[in-house]
Order: sequence, then structure tokens, then C-alpha cells
Amino acid sequence: MPFIRDIYAAKRAAGRPVISFEFFPPKTEEGDRALFERTLPALAAARPDYCSVTYGAGGSTREKTLTLVERLQREHGLTGLAHLTCVNHTRDEVAALLAQIRALGCQNILALRGDPPGGGEFKPTPGGFEFSSQLVQFIRAAGDFSTGVAGFPEGHTACPGGKHADWAHLKAKVEAGADFVLTQLFFDNDDFFEFRDHLTGPLGVRVPVVPGVISILNAAQILKFTQLCGAQIKPALRATLEALGTDEAAASEFGIEYATRQCEALLRAGVPGLHFYTLNKPHSTLRVLKNLGLA
Ligand SMILES: Cc1cc2nc3c(=O)[nH]c(=O)nc-3n(C[C@H](O)[C@H](O)[C@H](O)COP(=O)(O)OP(=O)(O)OC[C@H]3O[C@@H](n4cnc5c(N)ncnc54)[C@H](O)[C@@H]3O)c2cc1C
Repeated sequence: MPFIRDIYAAKRAAGRPVISFEFFPPKTEEGDRALFERTLPALAAARPDYCSVTYGAGGSTREKTLTLVERLQREHGLTGLAHLTCVNHTRDEVAALLAQIRALGCQNILALRGDPPGGGEFKPTPGGFEFSSQLVQFIRAAGDFSTGVAGFPEGHTACPGGKHADWAHLKAKVEAGADFVLTQLFFDNDDFFEFRDHLTGPLGVRVPVVPGVISILNAAQILKFTQLCGAQIKPALRATLEALGTDEAAASEFGIEYATRQCEALLRAGVPGLHFYTLNKPHSTLRVLKNLGLA
């Protein structure tokens, strides 16, 4: 399977955006069945350029990340991107995981610090890493991987110095060897443009900076989710979501329209690709892609 840095380079040369989908490993057998029997075949038919799989805070879903990446690659011929975090891992464990990822035929890793189990403050594991930049460096030294990192258009919630300090830390991740940046979801493109322009201007970052997009499925769910990940919902959008209440069909239709308008503006502004948080549901992402003429 190709390196993701090469996918961005080839698409850029062809003047086309890179389309990627993010999945999470389900916690239940029913979730597994829905993912493998319905979601993946439906989304694979849209021929994304690659698919990423999240890595949980601990427990059984961690092993499932690699299984899912392997099945995406083998059964659907898709390029996989395995997320990997510093949470609860020593360097030796990470070295063993890198060997396992390589043995599965996956050459692409999204290097993250990770969210601590049960929330709260991140505590480095003795013998592990404190920041994702160290993980990026470690992966680079292991060789033969294309590595992505997370970026936060509104700044990372745990950065006391504010968003500009956080963006300087992101530059350090790129200098440590990251080939591309995938952002946290956001709802106001101006936040993304300010972030991108700061990175590519004063900070001199040259790797692809790729917006993460979500099509809202459910008003209550997105209000809770954004609180956790630190993305802002500004008053006008909040009022619309509150008015939609528990009407999931209406929320999902609104989400498709909102994400379509957001993506159109991002594409007009020359983004290198769109990374869709699919929430393991195919319908909305496919509708947005169809609206954009990219399905
Ligand atoms: C696209 C995407 C995918 C994600 N996938 C997952 C996943 O699969 N599993 C999961 O658990 N979480 C995932 N997350 C969430 C992510 O792990 C958390 O947001 C985490 O809190 C931050 O991760 P990071 O890699 O950006 O951390 P880091 O880059 O280590 O940054 C963490 C904090 O430390 C600060 N910092 C960095 N370097 C320094 C330094 N040298 N000195 C002082 N401060 C510093 C940063 O500004 C930031 O506030 C994802 C996020 C995104 C955007």
C-alpha cells in the first residue's frame, strides 16, 4: 500500500483533493457486523484515497484497530492509516506495535498523544512519551512509515499558552518528521483559515494541512462531543441545533447541508484534501461527497 505522503503529492500534482474517511473500532459484535457488512462496503465504493482507524484509551478496541486496518487493506484494497497513541505505552511496547503494523502491510501511522482513559489530565507512562512529537521522532527512527499528526484550528484545550503556543508545538511535530496534519473537527472555516495561514505563513510549515470535517447526525450528540474535544459551536449554529432538538432526521439533513457548504468553501480555498469523521455511518458522508461531485 502507498505512503500517504505520496498520495498527497500525486493528488496535488493532479489538482484533485485527497478524500479520507475515519472509523473507530466498534465495542460490540453488533457494531462489528454493521461496520463490516454495511458501512465499509458502502464507503469503500466511494473509493476514498485512504481510511484511518482510531486507537482507544485501552482495552480490547486497541487490538481491533490493527485488525480493522488489515481488513480495510486486504478486503477492500484501501490504504489504511493506523492511529497510535502514547497513552499507557512504553517505548518497547510502541516498538513492538510498529513491527506489528509493518507486518500487516500498513505503512502509515497517525501519531498522537491520545486521550487519557476516563478523561482528566494526561500522565506520561514511565518509559514512554510525554508529547506526540517524541512519538513522531521514534517512528521516524524506526523508518519506512509515513506519519501524520493532529492539528487544532482552535488550539488544543490542554495548552496553557493558547492557540499560537499550541501551533508552535505542531510545527515541532512536523520538524520531528510528520508528513501531513489532520485537524480536529470545526464548524467555522475562518478558524481553519487562520490556523492554516499561521502555519504556512509565519511558521513556514510545508506539509499538507488537511481539514477534518463532520456531518452532524444528532444535535445532542454533537453538543456533547464538541464539549469534550474543545471545538466551539458558535451561537447561531447552537440555536439551530437546539431548535432541531431530538429530531434526528432533520438534524442529519441539516448536517449534510452544513458540511457540504463548509467543504465547498474549503475546496475553493485550495485545501489539499478533506478528512471525514464518518462516525461509522455511511449515509451522510456519501451524500456530502455526492453534493460536492466527488462521490
Ligand atoms: C485527527 C485526529 C485524530 C485523533 N485520533 C485519536 C485516537 O485515535 N485516539 C485518541 O485517544 N485520541 C485521538 N485524538 C485526540 C488526541 O489524542 C487528543 O486531542 C490529545 O489530547 C492531543 O493529542 P496530540 O497528538 O495533539 O498531542 P501533543 O502533540 O502531544 O500535544 C498535547 C498538548 O501538549 C502541548 N505540547 C506539545 N509539545 C509540547 C512541548 N514541547 N512543551 C509543552 N507543551 C507541549 C500541545 O500544545 C498540547 O496542548 C485525535 C485527534 C485528532 C485531531
